[in-house]
Amino acid sequence: MKKIIKNGTIVTASDTYQAEILIEDGKIVQIGTNLSAIGAEVIDAKGCLVFPGGIDPHTHLDMPFGGTVTKDDFESGTIAAAFGGTTTIIDFCLTNKGEPLKNAIQTWHEKSKDKAVIDYSFHLMISEINDKVLNELPQVIHDEGITSFKVFMAYKNVFQSDDETLFKTFVTAKELGALVMVHAENGDVIDYLTKKALAEGKTDPIYHALTRPAELEGEATGRAARMCGLADSQLYVVHVSCAEAVKQITEARKKGFNVWGETCPQYLVLDQSYLEKPNFEGAKYVWSPPLREKWNQEVLWNALKNGELHTFGSDQCSFDFKGQKELGRGDFTKIPNGGPMIEDRLTILFSEGVKKGRISLNQFVDLVSTRAAKLFGLFPKKGTIAIGADADIVIFDPNIERVISAETHHMAVDYNAFEGMKVIGEPVSVLVRGEYVIKDKQFVGKPGSGQYLKRAKFNMNAPIHQNETLSI
Ligand SMILES: [Zn+2]
Repeated sequence: MKKIIKNGTIVTASDTYQAEILIEDGKIVQIGTNLSAIGAEVIDAKGCLVFPGGIDPHTHLDMPFGGTVTKDDFESGTIAAAFGGTTTIIDFCLTNKGEPLKNAIQTWHEKSKDKAVIDYSFHLMISEINDKVLNELPQVIHDEGITSFKVFMAYKNVFQSDDETLFKTFVTAKELGALVMVHAENGDVIDYLTKKALAEGKTDPIYHALTRPAELEGEATGRAARMCGLADSQLYVVHVSCAEAVKQITEARKKGFNVWGETCPQYLVLDQSYLEKPNFEGAKYVWSPPLREKWNQEVLWNALKNGELHTFGSDQCSFDFKGQKELGRGDFTKIPNGGPMIEDRLTILFSEGVKKGRISLNQFVDLVSTRAAKLFGLFPKKGTIAIGADADIVIFDPNIERVISAETHHMAVDYNAFEGMKVIGEPVSVLVRGEYVIKDKQFVGKPGSGQYLKRAKFNMNAPIHQNETLSI
C-alpha cells in the first residue's frame, strides 16, 4: 500500500522545506512536488511539521531495580513512546557477572518481541571484562548488532564497575567498533555520603540529591573522558545533568577526544527543589544523577544550542508512586531511581526549546532523532527523511496547546513528573515503516509489530561530525 504525505513542512536536521513524501513498502521512495501517486492513500499534513520519527537512545523497560520492576514494559512503554513521536528506542540489556552475555540478550528479546509497537534495539551492560566476555563480544556485535556498551561508575555493589573494567571496555570497544556509554557519578564517594546521611537520621528524598553532588558527576565524567582519550576510544556520557559534567565534556572535546553527551527532559525543566515536595511526593523526582539546582538548566540549554551536548534521551525508568516509590519511606536509598519520560520527550524539547527560541527546529530534529541514528549505527535507515530511508515519520501539530497529565498520558505509571505543565505541540499521526501506529491521536498499532534492529559498528568515518554545530 502506497501513502503520500501532502501539504506539510518537512524538517530534517539540516533543512526545512515544503514537499510531498511518497511511501511504498515501508520506505520513502520519492520526495518532491506534484508527485503522481495513483492508488496511494493521501495523508493531509496541512499546518503540520513532518519530521523523522524520534529515536530514544536511553530507555529502561521491564527492568528489575531495587527489588521491584519498572512499571512500563515494552508494550505500554513503546505505545507511550509512539504517542510522543518516538519510533525507535534503544533499551539497556542488563547483564549479571558470570552469566553468558547471550543469556542476558535472550532475556531482553523475550521481554520485547511480542510487545513492542515500534522498532527497538539494545545496548549491552558490561559488568566485567575477562576472557569469557572478550570471546563473546565479537559474536554479540556480529550476530545481534549490539554496538554500544554501557558501564556504570555508580551504584556500588549493584551495577558499579571499577576503573580497570571501564578502561578495558574502552580498549575493547576501540578494537571491536563499539561506543562506550557511561553513567558518570563517583559511586564510592556517594556510598560514603549516603551511609553518613542515614546514620545522621537524614532519610527524606531530598538527601538523595544532597548525597550525590554535582562535583561527583563532573569528577566521574572527567575521569571517563580521560580514560577514553588515553585509549583513543569513543565515549557517550548518558544523562548529563549539570554544569560540572558539561565542562568536562567540552574540555575533552577541545583536546580532540571522541566524547559525546546526552541530556534528558527532566534536567531542563525540573530542579532539586522538587525533591522537597511534602507528603513524600519528592520521591517521584528521585533519579540518578539527581535533579540539580535550577541555574544548571541554562548551562544545559546553551550546551544543546552550541553543540556541546549532542542527543536527548528520556532515561525512561518508571515506577508507580504508590507501592513502588513508597518503598523508600523512611529511607531514601530504598526509593527506586527513575522517572516516566518516554512520552513527553519530544514535546518538552519542542515546547521549551524551539518555541522559546533556545534551539532551532533543525537542532530539535538532530537532538531527538538524527544524531542518535548516526552515533548508534542506524543512519540513514533511521533518523532522517530521505529516499530509501524507513518511512518512520511524525506528523506534528506545532501550534496545539495542551496540559501534561497522568490522567491523559499513555504510560502505565500512576504519575507524570510534568503534571500540570502547559506545552505547545503534539504528534497527530506517527508512522513506523509506513504503517500507522498513531492515527489522528489514536493508537492503531499492534503489539509485536516492532522490529528488532541490528546496528552497524561504530564508525568514526560515518557522518557523525556533520552539522556538529547548527546555527539558528
Ligand atoms: Zn538510564
